[in-house]
Amino acid sequence: MTSDDLAFDRDHIWHPYTSMSEPLPCYPVVGARGVHLQLADGRELVDGMSSWWAAIHGYNHPRLNQALQQQMTQMSHVMFGGITHPAAVALCRRLVDMTPAPLECVFLADSGSVAVEVAMKMALQYWQARGERRQRFLTLRRGYHGDTFSAMSVCDPDNSMHSLWQGYLPTHLFAPAPQCGFDDCWDEQDIAEFAAQIATHAGSIAAVILEPIVQGAGGMRFYHPDYLQQVRALCDRYQVLLIADEIATGFGRTGKLFACDHAGIAPDILCLGKALTGGTMTLSATLTTREVANTISNGAAGCFMHGPTFMGNPLACAVADASLALLQEGDWQTQVATIEQQLRTALLPLTAHPQVADARVLGAIGVIESRQPVNMAAIQRFFVEHGVWIRPFGKLIYLMPPYVITSQQLSQLTEAIKAALDHAELFLPG
Ligand code: PMP
Repeated sequence: MTSDDLAFDRDHIWHPYTSMSEPLPCYPVVGARGVHLQLADGRELVDGMSSWWAAIHGYNHPRLNQALQQQMTQMSHVMFGGITHPAAVALCRRLVDMTPAPLECVFLADSGSVAVEVAMKMALQYWQARGERRQRFLTLRRGYHGDTFSAMSVCDPDNSMHSLWQGYLPTHLFAPAPQCGFDDCWDEQDIAEFAAQIATHAGSIAAVILEPIVQGAGGMRFYHPDYLQQVRALCDRYQVLLIADEIATGFGRTGKLFACDHAGIAPDILCLGKALTGGTMTLSATLTTREVANTISNGAAGCFMHGPTFMGNPLACAVADASLALLQEGDWQTQVATIEQQLRTALLPLTAHPQVADARVLGAIGVIESRQPVNMAAIQRFFVEHGVWIRPFGKLIYLMPPYVITSQQLSQLTEAIKAALDHAELFLPG
């Protein structure tokens, strides 16, 4: 990439959550292989992000490439209305097989946010078909579910863009964020406010929506499995649907195949995305039970009112099926457990560092919460100069590397974080 290309990028291309008038620097990446991102100037960075939870097998994986190439020679895309194809059937068969038993009907969509829209719409249409006017969702503070409007309406109201969108977003119910950490002793009080809210408003709540166990973009917080178990029990007791957003946590990241497995529960509606295609293409899936699917289908509309143009895209389905096959054949449990052990050893002692407010690890996720927010441009440059790709936000410096990372590569990531903590200039005042 030339300096001209970079200037064009700066002047004309939006990046995620980035100013168009004063953009932060962007690093030109021209290739990616295994756990390395290759910069245009030839430098190679060890990837600590899996491109936001997605590239679990690393980049440029021959099996995934082969699946894409083979599918391409058949067809890259064909509409899903009135048509089906082998890649979609193979993928959905595998998804039904991998996910908890009650989930057997799969809706394929384009991105995580759309999977959440679909899940919320399913819940609303379910109650509409049952002749009940239930239009509210109950969710947790510090949650994050995506950037489209319904998804935004159930994101944390303080942490996200609610103040910006006041008057535009439907108002839903928010229980306090769980306080009991994953490894803490369970305290029954933690669920009290949630229990009170569901008891009071059950008749108007279509569904509870939450990220099971790991609250991701809303704070990288790991909460207690008993909380999730109790949520399931309360949803059953008050006959409210439970939507589990496993877009970030699905496919092994937390040490279990799905984060719901930590609590031994199954949701009524499950959202999957990100790692679904091994980070190669955008695809999401929303799974539900036969009962929810049939109720919707037997309602006044006669069908579920959703059908995106690129639904069931064959390339995405083929590569997702290959990615899940790779996961099922592979040794992800050992890989994730090994990463977890190393992250614990390297990161947890950093709680003693004056810059560190907290350090936590679950599965292949390691988080350092700093006392001051990071100076994004400065810390990003620092990490690149140290040969690693780590992209913090706010006070959170976190790792979620591809499962195939070696111990030495993982040390490079944790050492870079340790080094950054000693540089006051990489953090903003206050
Ligand atoms: N839900 C969760 C839990 C997520 O972490 C994300 C993405 N960060 C989304 C939904 C939205 O997914 P996407 O960015 O693919 O729309």
